[in-house]
Amino acid sequence: MSTPKTRSEWESLAANLTINGQAFIDGEYRAALSAETFACVSPIDGRVLTQVASCDLPDANLAVANGRRAFDSGVWSQQSPVKRKQVMIRFAELLEEHSDELALLETLDMGKPIRFAKSVDVAGAARALRWSGEAIDKIYDELAPTAHNEIGMITREPVGVVAAIVPWNFPLLMACWKLGPALATGNSVVLKPSEKSPLTAIRIAQLALDAGIPKGVLNVLPGFGHTVGKALALHMDVDTLVFTGSTKIAKQLMIYAGESNMKRVWLEAGGKSPNIVFNDAPDLKAAAVAAAEAIAFNQGEVCTAGSRLLVESGVKDELIALIGAELAAWQPGHPLDPDTVSGAVVDRQQLDTILSYIKAGKEAGATLVCGGEQVHAESGGVYVEPTVFMNVHNQMKIASEEIFGPVLSVIEFNGMEEAIAIANDTIYGLAAGVWTSDISKAHKTAKALRTGMVWINHYDGGDMTAPFGGYKQSGNGRDKSLHSFDKYTEIKATWIAL
Ligand code: NAD
Ligand code: MN
Repeated sequence: MSTPKTRSEWESLAANLTINGQAFIDGEYRAALSAETFACVSPIDGRVLTQVASCDLPDANLAVANGRRAFDSGVWSQQSPVKRKQVMIRFAELLEEHSDELALLETLDMGKPIRFAKSVDVAGAARALRWSGEAIDKIYDELAPTAHNEIGMITREPVGVVAAIVPWNFPLLMACWKLGPALATGNSVVLKPSEKSPLTAIRIAQLALDAGIPKGVLNVLPGFGHTVGKALALHMDVDTLVFTGSTKIAKQLMIYAGESNMKRVWLEAGGKSPNIVFNDAPDLKAAAVAAAEAIAFNQGEVCTAGSRLLVESGVKDELIALIGAELAAWQPGHPLDPDTVSGAVVDRQQLDTILSYIKAGKEAGATLVCGGEQVHAESGGVYVEPTVFMNVHNQMKIASEEIFGPVLSVIEFNGMEEAIAIANDTIYGLAAGVWTSDISKAHKTAKALRTGMVWINHYDGGDMTAPFGGYKQSGNGRDKSLHSFDKYTEIKATWIAL
């Protein structure tokens, strides 16, 4: 079928879609060993999409054992990089060939607009797999600078069995930021998607097998974090744990690693990113467009959301008015309508969290500029308006805690030093935006920001060539770029006396 062009075409594709909720272990779909399942509910309309396998410790043991067996057999881990490259590129192509189906699964499962599920999530996931695959046969090992009668070899080896625990906001994309480098470097992987959005991870397990990733190398275990996620994090035979999710769970995973086998733990966690607009911003309209997108895109369920807008006094009123006007275009619509740019939030629990922060903002004395309400309740789904608060102080709950919804806190400042102080006054350090025409102010501010990413006269830039990750309690290690390969390889020094 050609790509649907209207909401009703997408709806008819959805009506005919086969949705698989099973685990994938050793190259086969199967129920959880306990046969337990949980309901996968669409936030678009409250409809039950399917029952999903509720994996637990026995499934984790089985998947890790299969991952280990595949790793030790060398069928993938000892394959030549050029061969692994070809398979990874085929895997990327299969995502692209199934992009309508994958986008639809993502939209039904977590409520994001179909246009972005396709153009951002599925396209980005395929790019991540392809980029990692293309890189793997272009990386050389090293020789140490030794004396004439010695050779010091410095080589990279895959770590072994990697457990990847991923969140619900970009389910397929976050999974593929891990799978790309983890598989390209020769590891076996046990992927645990979020219980709120397991469907695309389950689907691509088959595509990986079809692409030529040998059975046992990629296993997918849907289930709850505190059961199967915990079992993987405590597992004595998982070598490396990679995670994207909240700071709270990230900290817990470090504890689990310490309590078990000291597995390596790499964490991409939360954020409360400052977007700083100086009086001399080169184009206030462009800053407003970016600021609106930075809080409304993906319903604000973005780790790098520009959730704190730091604005210098001279442009405050004008900027807030411009942002209010921009946000009119970001009102939630039906996620399967191709024109919709903002959809449902992931589930009712997340809606309640967002509404409770909006209440807290009002109670703390912040001024509601726009939004603030749940909408489209009659649909049975969960939707909330983009919301802006001004007169926010950085100590208020809405400014210090990650909301993970479309709620913007506008904080006023005067001068570069105050902007930097407010920007850095957070436990997080993921990303920041800076808007100024003064090149030295831009660089000084960028250097002073304790964040892993800085965008100047821009917000949320980057591609596979640039590392992604945070300082402080936003995590450690980096996804994307060649730096991501560090997480999936051990370094071996082999010293030879001639
Ligand atoms: P979460 O921490 O609740 O869950 C993330 C994953 O961890 C899920 O798969 C969940 O099942 C699992 N989990 C939960 N409890 C667990 C436990 N005790 N042991 C093992 N696994 C467990 O996060 P979320 O709500 O799914 O995602 C939102 C969070 O993700 C936000 O904080 C956001 O900032 C963060 N995030 C970060 C990035 C990044 O790259 N820095 C990207 C996207 C999202
Ligand atoms: Mn869901």
